[in-house]
Amino acid sequence: MRRKIIAGNWKMNMTPGEAVKLVEELKPLVKNEEADVVFCVPAIDIVPVVEAVKGSNIEVGAENMYFEEKGAYTGEISPAMLVDAGVKYVILGHSERRDYFHETSEDVNKKMKKALEHGLVPIMCCGESLTQREQGITLDWIRQQVKVGYQDIAAADAAKTVIAYEPIWAIGTGKTATTEQAEEVCKAIRDCIAEIYDEATAEAIRIQYGGSVNAGNAAELFAQPDIDGGLVGGASLKAEFGKVVCYK
Ligand code: PEP
Repeated sequence: MRRKIIAGNWKMNMTPGEAVKLVEELKPLVKNEEADVVFCVPAIDIVPVVEAVKGSNIEVGAENMYFEEKGAYTGEISPAMLVDAGVKYVILGHSERRDYFHETSEDVNKKMKKALEHGLVPIMCCGESLTQREQGITLDWIRQQVKVGYQDIAAADAAKTVIAYEPIWAIGTGKTATTEQAEEVCKAIRDCIAEIYDEATAEAIRIQYGGSVNAGNAAELFAQPDIDGGLVGGASLKAEFGKVVCYK
C-alpha cells in the first residue's frame, strides 16, 4: 500500500514573515497520520519555514534547484544548500518553469540525478497543454516527459521519487481534470515506469495529481487506484489546505 503524499506548492508567494504566519495557521489543520505532508516554499522562506515546522508532521520542499554542485551560477540554489537547510523534497520541471524559464526534460533529468545523489526526493512534474489534449497526444507527450526525465536513473532511485501529473490547462484555472482523466494519465505514467523498469518500481513510485485540487474534489481524486495524493497550488496557501490534507 503506497503512502499518500500531499504537497503544497506556494510558487512565488509569501514573504518570510508571511510564511511563518501561514505555517503557524496551518500546523494544527494538516495533521494526517496516513499521509506525508510537504510544504514546497520559495527559496528565501526555506530557513524560517524549516524552523517553524519543527515538532510537526510537515516536511519542507523546495520549488526548484540547479543541477551543478556549486560555482558561477548566479541566482541558483544547489542541492547541498537545500539539504543543509533541512529540505527533504524538491519540485522539478514544474510547467511554469518549463514554460517561462525554458526548462527542457533534459534539464529536468540532470536535476533529478543531482537531487537523488544528494538524498533529496524529487517531485517531477509532467503534463500536457490544452492543445496537446485536443490533438489527442496527451499520453504520448507524458510518456516522453517521463522517459527523458528518468533516463539513466536506477530503479532503486526511481522508486523513491514522486511524479506529479499536472495538466497545464488545469493549473490555477479552477478547471480540474475529471477523475477519469486524472486516473487515466496517472495509470499510464505507472505503466510507463513499469516499462522502463519493472512492476515493483511501478508499484512503489508515488504519483500525484495536480491542477485546481481543492477541499471539494480531493477525496474523489485521491481515492483513485493510481493517484497517491496531490500537488496543490492555490489551495495550499489558505486554511482550506487542512481540508485537502485531511480529505477523508
Ligand atoms: C501547482 O502549482 O502545481 C498547481 C497545481 O496549482 P493549482 O492547485 O493552483 O492549480
